[in-house]
Amino acid sequence: MNVMLIGAQGSGKGTQAQLLEEQLNLKPCASGELLRDAIARETALGKAAKPYYDKGDLVPDELVARLILERLQELDGANGIILDGFPRTIAQAKILDELLAQVGQRINAIIYLDVPRQELLDRLSGRYLCRAHNHVWNIKTHPTKVPNVCDYDGSELYQRVDDTSERIAHRLDIFFNETIHLIEYYKEQNKLIHVDGNQSIEEVHEQIMANLRSDLRLTSNDEYAAS
Ligand code: AMP
Repeated sequence: MNVMLIGAQGSGKGTQAQLLEEQLNLKPCASGELLRDAIARETALGKAAKPYYDKGDLVPDELVARLILERLQELDGANGIILDGFPRTIAQAKILDELLAQVGQRINAIIYLDVPRQELLDRLSGRYLCRAHNHVWNIKTHPTKVPNVCDYDGSELYQRVDDTSERIAHRLDIFFNETIHLIEYYKEQNKLIHVDGNQSIEEVHEQIMANLRSDLRLTSNDEYAAS
């Protein structure tokens, strides 16, 4: 089973992806995360992607597609993948169809986390990640118990280089001008599950699970961690 999450920066994609990974034994495939890793390891691809990433621009399709293909090929015992952050344009959606065909896979469910722009701005300016595993926290809406220390693994928190107010606005513009067209694209294909992302983390997760249970006819065997 392969699931795709579409949503603007700050819509809760990363948080919801982590919950679905655990519950459905899915392997994460977050393009931003894969890029951050390649940039930190200073691979050739990471070096080529860095100037785009740092400005909050879209990294060229062929670089991102290479990372996604590698990920699709290494499931490591998971039931499928959870795509988060790819595709971001119609061109990338078409590339994804080609990549999936190459590995004989398809996307079973596409979830759009709908959150108003002002709420996204508020959330992003308070967002912090933990150094060890990139668990997502928010000093306003989802704080850690001890300031600056991850509840899960005790590591220090940091703010992303592209989470400055100017870059946040630029990245949201890209989402609302370009990525938003994916909603119509997948709606026309009857594949879209529209979820109100402006609710608590638990409510959003429950709404996603309720949709997946009915659309994909999940059995308790599929709900790995819950069974
Ligand atoms: P994210 O962590 O999803 O917010 O992505 C962070 C940054 O990585 C974006 O601002 C882009 O520079 C780059 N990026 C992530 N996914 C893509 C993608 N599908 N296409 C192009 N660039 C991407």
